[in-house]
Amino acid sequence: MARILIVEDEAGIASFLESGLGAAGHTTMVVADGREGAAIARDDAFDLVLLDLGLPGLDGMSALRQIRARGETLPVIILTARGELDTTITGFRDGADDYVTKPFRFEELLARITVRLDDGARRSRGAGTSTIEVGPCQLDTGARTISVDGRVVDLSNREYALALVFFEHPGQVLTREQLLSRVWGYDFDPGSNVVDVYVGYLRKKLPAGMIETVRGAGYRLRSSVE
Ligand code: CA
Repeated sequence: MARILIVEDEAGIASFLESGLGAAGHTTMVVADGREGAAIARDDAFDLVLLDLGLPGLDGMSALRQIRARGETLPVIILTARGELDTTITGFRDGADDYVTKPFRFEELLARITVRLDDGARRSRGAGTSTIEVGPCQLDTGARTISVDGRVVDLSNREYALALVFFEHPGQVLTREQLLSRVWGYDFDPGSNVVDVYVGYLRKKLPAGMIETVRGAGYRLRSSVE
């Protein structure tokens, strides 16, 4: 059972979500105003947020930025309308974990919620902390940081999530599709270069040559740097 905050101003959708999630054993709270949603979306109050984009008070994207700016890490799933994909991509950069396009099937939404809740539980269990060491780098799952030769490098949420996949599979070739589904958690447009963009960000923060491009296949984290 999870505590789910629904930030949605269309009463019909909100009550549809409320009853479906209630039947699935979750407790829910509905707010229709973006400003109020942003204010109460806190890690200690909820396990997950469903966030509409078009909202009175404060739009969904701004609400999301406020939530992340406060350092909350709870999973946020954006409810988006068709044709809002550009906004959705911005949403990932600003800290959304997943999105569903309206109209959606409830089962699909519930499946995504389940994945994100597992993910969120792993994040908070990370307080127990383990360290993965690869070459000169140490990834700390508790602090969600990487140190290179003992110096902590600053990572965004998304960069950390991507780094974690690499550090869990050192020496293995990971395809773009694998990285996309592990880090972004949905079928992105295969023509999208979001993985390459983020690998580029990560490369700038790790020792040179640590993330290798394997032509026609994907990327690989080298277990040592020569
Ligand atoms: Ca709306």
